[in-house]
Amino acid sequence: MTTHSAHSGQDESPILPASKNPQDFVIATLGSHSALQILKGAKDEGIKTLAICKKGSERPYKAYPVADEIITLDSFDAWDDQLEEELIKRNAIVIPHGSFIAYMGHDRVKKMKTMYYGTKEILEWESDRKKERIWLEKAGLKLPKVYEKPEDIDKPVIVKFHGAGGGFGYFIARTPEQFYEVKNRKYPDQNDFVLQEYVVGVPLYIHYFYSPITKELEILSFDKRYESNADSIGRIKAEDQLAANIHTSYTIVGNIPVVVRESLLPQMFEMGDRVVETSKEICGGKGLFGPFCLETIVTRKLEVLVFEISARIVAGTNPFIEGSPYTALKYDEPMSTGRRLVRDIKQAIEAGRLEDVLG
Ligand code: AMP
Ligand code: AMP
Repeated sequence: MTTHSAHSGQDESPILPASKNPQDFVIATLGSHSALQILKGAKDEGIKTLAICKKGSERPYKAYPVADEIITLDSFDAWDDQLEEELIKRNAIVIPHGSFIAYMGHDRVKKMKTMYYGTKEILEWESDRKKERIWLEKAGLKLPKVYEKPEDIDKPVIVKFHGAGGGFGYFIARTPEQFYEVKNRKYPDQNDFVLQEYVVGVPLYIHYFYSPITKELEILSFDKRYESNADSIGRIKAEDQLAANIHTSYTIVGNIPVVVRESLLPQMFEMGDRVVETSKEICGGKGLFGPFCLETIVTRKLEVLVFEISARIVAGTNPFIEGSPYTALKYDEPMSTGRRLVRDIKQAIEAGRLEDVLG
């Protein structure tokens, strides 16, 4: 197969294969999070698949026949130049997901030479809470209030430590005293946190897809999370919770599908449009594309407050491997987010526009 350079410049952009045949490529991802969905989506689109697994976690990728090949690493720290060479040799396109970013870290992702689906520039905007806020405010979204310092706390806040994985370690405080009591006792050494107004309502995760090929914004599905112990605390009487000194935590365990009240949809499409438009202004170039998720709380007055954005596939799309009620309206075949993104890649390859979907 022949190769050509997509750029003539001195940057480290990968040398892109010139092939317009999707079967010359491999869809690769780390074995966790939404890998089953992504790999199944690639197989449905007729593209070869590769799962990169940490030793001991290969079983699901063997039990469910979605991976044509499995590469096992002792740890994700073993992601080195040699592995990249193997991936480049196979024409692998790496699909990032939540665990991928969590295990690899932004710096390593930015330096990766293997073909990577999505915009790398957007990573710093979603990983830095201050920048993320500038982006979302610029897009005209409603956000929960953020408190500068613990002394300012005058109503319930949710305390989020930087890098908290999957909601682990969050806690609620109503007053500065309460904040310091929990913080000093449980997290004495952690000083990188955000104090966000605790919004009373229901959490709702909106799964969007924006294609740079079709230029269309789609809403593919919605989920809510199943969190321990937030989702079971209501099974205990309030006075027993106090007696047993139970604190609410938000550790993610799974995801539950949701269909929203239909009259909320126009607003949600507009929110997605504005996030995509604004991304082009803030980071230039291609801006945000592919799957992304607005993480919201919807109040009893039907206000939609966005507390976070994920600029990639979220695991809340996993219940929809066979498609969602929304994708059923648009596609005549089962369409998951994983399959949708692989289709984007496939169309880009066939059109000789692979560069448009790579970061
Ligand atoms: P894991 O590979 O399950 O250890 O997850 C790595 C990261 O991905 C965690 O820090 C979570 O934030 C995120 N994650 C994994 N699974 C889910 C899920 N089902 N829903 C939301 N986030 C998830
Ligand atoms: P996150 O790790 O930021 O996705 O948040 C984990 C969970 O914390 C969410 O699913 C919500 O249940 C809850 N949460 C996060 N931010 C807020 C907020 N500002 N108000 C109320 N609940 C929140």
